[in-house]
Amino acid sequence: MPQESDPRVAAIAAEATEWRRHLHANPELSFEEHQTSDFVAAKLESWGIAVTRGIAGTGLVGTLRGARGQQGANAGRAIGLRADMDALPMQEMTEDLPYRSTRPNVMHACGHDGHTAMLLGAARYLSEKRDFEGTVHFIFQPAEEKGGGGRVMVEEGLFTRFPCDAVYGIHNGSNVPKGQFVITRGTTNAAADTVKLTVRGLGGHAARPHQALDPVLVASHIVVALQSVVSRRVDPLDSAVLSLCSIHGGSACNVIPEEVVIEGTVRTLRPETRDEMQRLLTEVATATATAHGASVEIDYERGYPPVVNSDGPVERARLAAANLVGEGMLVREAPPTMGGEDFSYMARTVPGCFIRLGQMDPGKPNFSTHHPRYNFNDDILPTGIAFWSSLVEQELTPG
Ligand SMILES: [Zn+2]
Ligand SMILES: [Zn+2]
Repeated sequence: MPQESDPRVAAIAAEATEWRRHLHANPELSFEEHQTSDFVAAKLESWGIAVTRGIAGTGLVGTLRGARGQQGANAGRAIGLRADMDALPMQEMTEDLPYRSTRPNVMHACGHDGHTAMLLGAARYLSEKRDFEGTVHFIFQPAEEKGGGGRVMVEEGLFTRFPCDAVYGIHNGSNVPKGQFVITRGTTNAAADTVKLTVRGLGGHAARPHQALDPVLVASHIVVALQSVVSRRVDPLDSAVLSLCSIHGGSACNVIPEEVVIEGTVRTLRPETRDEMQRLLTEVATATATAHGASVEIDYERGYPPVVNSDGPVERARLAAANLVGEGMLVREAPPTMGGEDFSYMARTVPGCFIRLGQMDPGKPNFSTHHPRYNFNDDILPTGIAFWSSLVEQELTPG
């Protein structure tokens, strides 16, 4: 099994650092990862890996068969390793980063540049050694941040075209110590829904409010009333988040507008709580509007379902991580994050495991993912490359 200190892993990680920085300087938005997809495909092909393109637009799959015969116990098995490729629509604010984004308002602020480079590094290592039997599919997906590229790949037949016995994904953990693996059973990421509330009143002159119906006031009551849903209606031992993050209405200090639009997101871990949050939100917002003689139109959109890990892949990923970094750097129990992830669509189609790999350097400034000064930590590339490679060799041991 490869180790982080393996000279070949170290050499590949040095190259992967260059790829990562190239991707960081040239970020692309969800479903627009054309250059990134070309870059990944060219690398895979140069190492003799069969590439299938055009799944969910810019998505692609590299397929590699082991060299250790195709007759043994694992010959018929296949596993999928997944990385995401897209960036975020935000302006990078890092200081003095030589490879900072060259594109205004597009930034790799979630480390997907690192995930892509890490999986490419493993593909390179495995293509050279091919010390396994069976098949590994390297899945590079578009649009994790927006639009659900993982869902679209599954809908376009990812696992019927490339059957997998298990699928694994890694996300860097910006608040987890560098090199630490977090591999937990059950739910790891929340369901992420969005809601838009359009509050309708009656516009008019600010000096004659009795002849109008002020939607600014009604919207304010709705924002406050909705805060009681999580605090008073959801079991305190369960988890739910309702964040109303934007509110827009009005155009002048002396004009009562016709409508106000509120937008936000709802995060839950359990399906029943998800249904209940939608029901309560609708009930409380509608009743509050009605109490003021106004109306509210509610667009509730279900987003990514929760990521739920399967026990078998969890145990196998833990084994590979423990062999690589030792028990001291493996966290087996941790609360889920309320962040969403569209790896959920893959992990509910075939048994899956979503892994967090820490990247926080103690004593250095640390910025969370989605922060304008966030940067993927290249120091974890050897760890990730060695982990992916040893997981494949462990799972597809010649036998
Ligand atoms: Zn993100
Ligand atoms: Zn991400």
